[in-house]
Amino acid sequence: MNRLISVSTLDDIAPEYRNTPIGYLLEYHNLNRPLDSYTKARLLIGMCMDNRKRLRIPNNFAYVIRTGGGNLSYSEFKVSYAIAVGGVSSIALIGHNNCAMVNLNTKKETFISGLVEKAGWERSRAEEHFIS
Ligand SMILES: [Zn+2]
Repeated sequence: MNRLISVSTLDDIAPEYRNTPIGYLLEYHNLNRPLDSYTKARLLIGMCMDNRKRLRIPNNFAYVIRTGGGNLSYSEFKVSYAIAVGGVSSIALIGHNNCAMVNLNTKKETFISGLVEKAGWERSRAEEHFIS
């Protein structure tokens, strides 16, 4: 089942999202809407740390939390801050294809040897770090 909807025109944005922070995110990023001026965040965006991904959004428009795979499990305080102090009431969780953060066990040895060779870690500590 394919539940993805391509957004390439304004009509592709579901009516319930138009003129909301989510709709504006889609307009800025997908439809090249001119960047408006913001003095406070309207949205929290969770997305992958992948260096190939970049958003086209105005300054001050959104808090952005970037983690491996866009997983916000260890970012609860930051999410709460964006809501309680930052005042956002919408969250966009953005996924992407070809994410390198899936099947991490296949990268275990590369991860461990990389920490040993490039950062001077002791192997046992690097192994423990991978597990935790
Ligand atoms: Zn990713």
